[in-house]
Amino acid sequence: MAVFDDIIGHENPKAFFSGIQATQRIASGFQLHGDSGRGKLLFAQAFVQRLFCADGTGCGQCPACIRYRAGSHGDIEIVHLVDGKTRISIEQLRNLREWFHRAPYEADRRCAIINDAHLMTEEAQNSLLKLLEEPPAHGILILVTENPQGLLDTIHSRLQAVYFGPLTEADVAKIVRGQVEASEEEIRRAASLANGSPGQALNLVGDETSAMIQEAAERLFDLKTLPFGYSEMVSGGRTTGADARAKVNRILEVAMNLVSQQIEVTVNDDGRKPPIPALAPWPVEVLGEAQELLMDAVGAIRSNTSPRSVVESLKIRMHRIIGRARRAQKSVGGGR
Ligand SMILES: [Zn+2]
Repeated sequence: MAVFDDIIGHENPKAFFSGIQATQRIASGFQLHGDSGRGKLLFAQAFVQRLFCADGTGCGQCPACIRYRAGSHGDIEIVHLVDGKTRISIEQLRNLREWFHRAPYEADRRCAIINDAHLMTEEAQNSLLKLLEEPPAHGILILVTENPQGLLDTIHSRLQAVYFGPLTEADVAKIVRGQVEASEEEIRRAASLANGSPGQALNLVGDETSAMIQEAAERLFDLKTLPFGYSEMVSGGRTTGADARAKVNRILEVAMNLVSQQIEVTVNDDGRKPPIPALAPWPVEVLGEAQELLMDAVGAIRSNTSPRSVVESLKIRMHRIIGRARRAQKSVGGGR
């Protein structure tokens, strides 16, 4: 478990919560939001540990820290999605409300974290709302979510929202380096594809299929390699059902990240990120079209269209985009 002061990046949230702890004027509800894999839950847990710690640092040595790390602190509760379920239920929230209204057991306050808060059912959210409307004086509630739109407006308005932006590639690489054994090249590649999310980078690193996923994504942008078949795209693993869907989804996401990176390079041109060779000659408006096309394909995969038909239709549309990129290059080259 991370110690608050050792958290890498997220300078704004760190300053915000340090300030709150220093003044001891702690609001009753917070919402931590930002893309998945950015470390919001770890951050919330580190803050809570610090809040209950005897010397206010999250020392790891005092009785409160020891009980917290063992998962047995009587005044701290974490609500998660129950294994095998897709939503956080009203029963979970009812239990939480009851727990909150009881007096603190060993500290002077009680604190709960609701992870993946957007997965609460509407009934669960209404139950939470009652808690937020009449918060017990000793209670602090922290909602962690990658999709704040999934929460009722009436909940938003009662929470202080804190945004967790993307980490820099250097920070992502530093976190990955601290957690897994991998070559420097592999770590850098994962960090550059992870969209500022250490969680995503950790998924990419050490995975022997990740190099293949990257290669498959790059092949989408080249006329010579584009006409590969669907089976070729998903080969190297089982090619049916959920595996194929997940694999195509990852290839498309990596392809989208490559296009984003090239758009950034083209627009900023400050040499901070390397260009993507296959995409470097493309004009920015064609890159934009490619991005939209890939987004549509990801949407289709997620809404259960068969991966095979998504890939086949993507190939046809990608052909047209590459043609457009080439014509634009020629007209620039010919001075017309
Ligand atoms: Zn402590």
